[in-house]
Amino acid sequence: MIGPVRPSAGALRPLGLDAVRITGGFWGERQERNAKASIPHAHHWLEETGWLGNFRLAATDDLVPHRRRGREFSDSEVFKLAEAMAWECARGGDVSVGELSTVVAAAQEPGGYLNTMFGRPGQQPRYSDLTWGHELYCYGHLIQAGVARLRGGVKDALATTAIRAADHVCVEFGPTGRQALCGHPGIEMALVELFRATGTARYLDQARLFVDRRGQASLPDVELGRAYFQDDVPVRERVVFAGHAVRALYLACGAVDVAVETGDDKLLAAVVRQWERTVAARTYVTGGMGSRHEGEAFGEDFELPADRAYVETCAAVASVMLCWRLLLATGEARFADLAERTLFNVVAASTSLDGRAFFYTNPLRQRVAGEVLDRSRPWPRASSGERAPWRDVSCCPTNVARTLASLGGYVATVDDGGVQVHQYAAGTVASGDIALTVATGYPWDGGVEVRVDRTSQRPWRLSLRVPAWAGEATLVTPEGTQRVTPGYAVVSRTWRSGDTVRLELPLTPRWTAPDPRIDAVRGCVAVERGPLVYCAESVDHDPATALDAVNVDRSAPLTERPLPALGRDVVALAVPASATSDPRSEATRTDEADDRDPSEPAGGVPARTTPAAGDGWPYGSISTAEAEPGNLTLVPYHLWANRGPATMRVWLPVASSTQDRR
Ligand SMILES: [Zn+2]
Repeated sequence: MIGPVRPSAGALRPLGLDAVRITGGFWGERQERNAKASIPHAHHWLEETGWLGNFRLAATDDLVPHRRRGREFSDSEVFKLAEAMAWECARGGDVSVGELSTVVAAAQEPGGYLNTMFGRPGQQPRYSDLTWGHELYCYGHLIQAGVARLRGGVKDALATTAIRAADHVCVEFGPTGRQALCGHPGIEMALVELFRATGTARYLDQARLFVDRRGQASLPDVELGRAYFQDDVPVRERVVFAGHAVRALYLACGAVDVAVETGDDKLLAAVVRQWERTVAARTYVTGGMGSRHEGEAFGEDFELPADRAYVETCAAVASVMLCWRLLLATGEARFADLAERTLFNVVAASTSLDGRAFFYTNPLRQRVAGEVLDRSRPWPRASSGERAPWRDVSCCPTNVARTLASLGGYVATVDDGGVQVHQYAAGTVASGDIALTVATGYPWDGGVEVRVDRTSQRPWRLSLRVPAWAGEATLVTPEGTQRVTPGYAVVSRTWRSGDTVRLELPLTPRWTAPDPRIDAVRGCVAVERGPLVYCAESVDHDPATALDAVNVDRSAPLTERPLPALGRDVVALAVPASATSDPRSEATRTDEADDRDPSEPAGGVPARTTPAAGDGWPYGSISTAEAEPGNLTLVPYHLWANRGPATMRVWLPVASSTQDRR
């Protein structure tokens, strides 16, 4: 199996990049863009910023502190790019890991230590700042890159360097070594993966030690509190994910890996419990996680503001990684459902259509149109209006790159009874004497046709996931047509080559209301179509500011229409809407409303208004102001900010007359 996560136990066994080929469509295009644009782009920026050069200086003992560039975790970006390249190679791509492999290997010190930030004359000593130094976190990414090479059947300098680093960690932080932890989890799952790839048990033992040590106040207290790096409560006793979102989710991945490999059902159940409550109360409609800018952290339950949604891209990647692990362990469709939501609405949203600019944060409301960013320099991490070519903290682009390169490894599984397809992408799936072709225009089209190209004589089961949002779907098999409900639609029969099964998922656009406890968007609705969340973007409306005051009538029809500017198959939606003329609204100045061209076609204008300061105080008595009728265009959220600076909103206030009918 060539791909990420290969557990030795669990309900389902993953099929890797050697068994699943994505050949086109939504994800096929993104994999190509990743290979042709994003990976070379990241390589360019690692040279430009000197983060790769740090390794060359380290190898020549020339790395005096003032010559090192980048933050304390910049080594990890080189490792993540190497991992992306390794998966790209493994799926037959035209990319070489050789240069990165050689540069990284040359910087490793005798004994296996490798970090360009610490330990040389003039630098801080090794492991002198475990709280913020990220040394073990960086090893985690080095090890994941090494595992990608090993799974691809190559034991090159990168794989050897990763193994030497892991051996060093087991000595340095083992039972008789430092009883310490890294401030940023990540190494736990990497060590378990290395155990799986090599069979060396001490890597698993070390991972379990790290998981068990966390939550015992092993790290010093910090201003953000120990919850920031999950050192406040032991993993087994935690009830919900909290603190820094990427840290929390990486730790959960490691805990699942340890639980699965050691048969620790209680630990697995603890993570499932935490996941359930997090999904129920701390997750955005996009699947995004981590609302707080402060500490890049999960908020309290239902603290999910749209405009102050942090939703780091890396947290989405981590959530997909966790969902995949939980799916393999349990076989439950709900984990694949969240992975799908997150892939389409955060991971896909993070990258520009040219593959060379990236979001770090993924808010659901952009109040002020961003500026066109100079693509010749890096930008601060949390600027959210426009995707940036690179950032001072640039963890996300390489994280997305490795995810897209290995995406075929997140699509399908087998068990003793047959094959399960969890994510729908045009391509092929093969396992043993079974081979399938999946033909689909998903997510624009709801039809998924699976053709059996090769089969054994024995009967086996084909399971196709029916997402929870579908409510009900139609399955056409050689035996006839049936209604199927969320979970897995299972066809058990003796197959012949050429047999086809067709799943028809209903893509009727739907209104989605939030739990009323999510105060920030109470009284609003979102629109979804299939797995895609939609948003209103100011570039489709005139004037741009009208989005502030828009109201929708959720009894109104949602009309589909093409939007070729964003892609050949893209489906946009139009809905009748109005903008309040409430003088307290930021987006209202009624004298301008009179300027409206009466011949203006539908699909354009919710209201012709411009910002005004109102009466200088944004609170007052309930308004019964007149509303300006118009039409609102909605586009898939993952495509926003690809047509220049724009304001944007996912959650749309419901006109008070229709809200009363709830
Ligand atoms: Zn990130």
